[in-house]
Amino acid sequence: MNIHEYQGKDVLRKYGVTTPRGFACASADEAADAATRLGGRAWVVKAQIHAGGRGKGGGVKLAWSVDEVRRHASQLLGMTLTTHQTGPEGRVVKRLLVEEGIEIDKEMYLALVVDRESGRVALMASSEGGMDIEEVAARTPGKIHKVLIDPATGLKGSEADIVARSIGLSGKSVMQARTLMQNLYQAFDASDASLAEINPLVVTRDGRVIALDAKFNFDSNALYRQPEIVAMRDFDEEDPAELEASRFDLSYIALDGDIGCLVNGAGLAMATMDVIKLYGGSPANFLDVGGGATAEKVTQAFKLMLRNPNLRAILVNIFGGIMKCDVIARGVIAAAREVELSVPLVVRMKGTNESLGRTILAQSGLPILTADDMADAAQQAVAAARRRNH
Ligand code: ADP
Ligand code: MG
Repeated sequence: MNIHEYQGKDVLRKYGVTTPRGFACASADEAADAATRLGGRAWVVKAQIHAGGRGKGGGVKLAWSVDEVRRHASQLLGMTLTTHQTGPEGRVVKRLLVEEGIEIDKEMYLALVVDRESGRVALMASSEGGMDIEEVAARTPGKIHKVLIDPATGLKGSEADIVARSIGLSGKSVMQARTLMQNLYQAFDASDASLAEINPLVVTRDGRVIALDAKFNFDSNALYRQPEIVAMRDFDEEDPAELEASRFDLSYIALDGDIGCLVNGAGLAMATMDVIKLYGGSPANFLDVGGGATAEKVTQAFKLMLRNPNLRAILVNIFGGIMKCDVIARGVIAAAREVELSVPLVVRMKGTNESLGRTILAQSGLPILTADDMADAAQQAVAAARRRNH
């Protein structure tokens, strides 16, 4: 689960990480009011969307007067912001963060991320902070420093100091950075985060070390014990089809291809997408209906896939273990009738009651293509999608 920058900064402040002062706003009036309350002589108006790259995309504006804050706010609110992380369709800006303008001396990069190889939390830091960390990683990976944190001790002061020096800090800044990193680790650990990225971490002209941006991801398996995090979920930022899927307990991820996949089991769903690719096709989604899919669930799954305007064919790939193939066949037919299926449907079923399942499909009178194995199924689906594209 993701949250907005302003929410991430609330989490940071709760654990003692210094951030600029600021207020979240949803109108130009609120933005002007926030600037007045903050005081000072410069403000930054920041679009709040669940994607980075806002600075380069025009979503972060500096203002020198309350009037200018108001103007930037009314321009940003409601606009579709496109950044390298939003995809070409962009995101509509519905909220802003108005914060004090910070006089920056130096921009660095700091992140905590779960390192799967070591099974530990990795602290990553670089002197090259700001907007292009992907480029730093690609071109000069030596400029990214990494420490694997022992969960028994947390981030040690000595480790934090080494990291602080490696990114060019010295004197009092080292001590401040140490405290900030240790507090960031506390925030990460206590909130079951999977990513906490501060880009940039800055040293201000007056020598303070502060977090200027905040990006968090949280482990969805731990949300049951994180009510405060769950309360920050913003449904506006989520794919409507994925949201609908979670209501029916379906694992659905929208992709950019044209062959819809309905599969039971995450592993088989991955393999199905691989085989589609192997035969030159492209999956429109990942969809795992789970082990105990009912006819109702299968119908919902069809409806979800059919919302996608790019859909050219559907491939159903079921292994009948706990679930029986005849039950699935009835579910598929019921769903196909209810949604008035408008694209070719290829079904491959294996396992318990498979011949009964096939008979049911064949006798349905619906134009369903059946397949013997995965290769055959994928080839038929790819061919069907191609015919539709011409
Ligand atoms: P994004 O990562 O989406 O581009 P950031 O929050 O990192 O957004 O902002 C982009 C850049 O804008 C920062 O690298 C920094 O130079 C500048 N910036 C952001 N917030 C402030 C602020 N409060 N005061 C001054 N400059 C800021
Ligand atoms: Mg940033």
